[in-house]
Amino acid sequence: MKVFVLNCGSSSFKYQLLNMDTEELLAIGLVERIGLNDSVLAYEATGKEKVKEVSDIADHAQAIKMVLDKLVDAEVGVISKLEEISAIGHRAVHGADKFTKSVLVDDEVIAAMEECVPLAPLHNPANITGMKAMMDVLPGVPNVAVFDTAFHQTMPASSFIYALPYELYEEHKVRRYGFHGTSHYYVSNRAAEILGIEKDNFNCITCHMGNGSSFAAIKDGKCYDTTMGMTPLEGLVMGTRAGDVDGGLFKFLENNANMSIDDIDTMLNKKSGLLGISGISSDMRDIESAAAEGNERAQLAIDALMHRIVKYIGAFAALLGRVDAIIFTAGIGENAIELREEVMKRLTVFGIKGDSDKNNCRGKEQIISADDSAMTVMVVPTNEEITIGRDTKEIVAAL
Ligand code: AMP
Repeated sequence: MKVFVLNCGSSSFKYQLLNMDTEELLAIGLVERIGLNDSVLAYEATGKEKVKEVSDIADHAQAIKMVLDKLVDAEVGVISKLEEISAIGHRAVHGADKFTKSVLVDDEVIAAMEECVPLAPLHNPANITGMKAMMDVLPGVPNVAVFDTAFHQTMPASSFIYALPYELYEEHKVRRYGFHGTSHYYVSNRAAEILGIEKDNFNCITCHMGNGSSFAAIKDGKCYDTTMGMTPLEGLVMGTRAGDVDGGLFKFLENNANMSIDDIDTMLNKKSGLLGISGISSDMRDIESAAAEGNERAQLAIDALMHRIVKYIGAFAALLGRVDAIIFTAGIGENAIELREEVMKRLTVFGIKGDSDKNNCRGKEQIISADDSAMTVMVVPTNEEITIGRDTKEIVAAL
């Protein structure tokens, strides 16, 4: 079964075509600047020449048609006709408490996602646009939505409730939901497999650190707590997002810095985090090289990130009681060797011992703690697309 996996943003999308019988990647790419001038379409079929084309692409449907044309192209294509695509799997960001697992997309699902728009005003409209565009371009082919929030729906109320008037939860669904669920689910399952531990008996802390970052405390294979909240802003220091801040900040900034709620929202989401502290970049590689050249604010950004990583791992370890593994994943988690080394050093209170030779790795599955470490620390590269492909296959095969 061939599944087209779509991760749709407001002016861009990433895609993969997967052969889900073998879990082989057939083609991968992204389209950026949709609706703007000089849109860029990137496409790469496994084993074939990369394609990059610049043109004006008006909307998502046009962009999807252009990608599908590539898939059946005589030179760079990987399938002979579009009918070979059996299903489409969508990354869907916010399903609130409506979706505890992946679902077949229909009008009701789209309506439910529309209801969640106030909770994810940037992401959900883009996901819905992608779904409608796929239905338009490939009518009759089933679409499946795989929610970032679904894995976290097992959190107990004590984890997800904010200490606010309860009516806000009842009337406006104000609570913590958590994100990156597909990644936390994938890496925790994979780690259990690697370690030979029964998934239902596996306790771990998954550390997804990329441009956006979140950790999850997983108890008996189920999410018990996570660092992101009602929106993907809470928790860790991220590329441009502030993570945890004092709610008293808003009134203070309104009164003293002449900032509106919109200004503050933009600042917290787009101008904070590593970028805000360093003033240089949101990209960890830039921050690391600036710090190595002696830039103090870049070093402070790394120190602040490190501080919060250690703080949350410590808090989650206390909540879980027993931790079988700490798992690093995503761009920073898979690649930032020195950061991982330092995190392990700061966790000696838990009997954690790193192994520098094993930790000297990027982007591969590897145990990075010493054999006599009290907790196993490991790197597991995330693969959200394969999880979306698997859920899509399972749902469509049962139709
Ligand atoms: P993601 O959102 O998962 O693509 O992760 C993006 C983040 O990973 C950016 O902050 C990158 O700087 C970071 N990253 C990627 N490669 C490396 C690397 N070799 N060393 C440190 N950080 C990296």
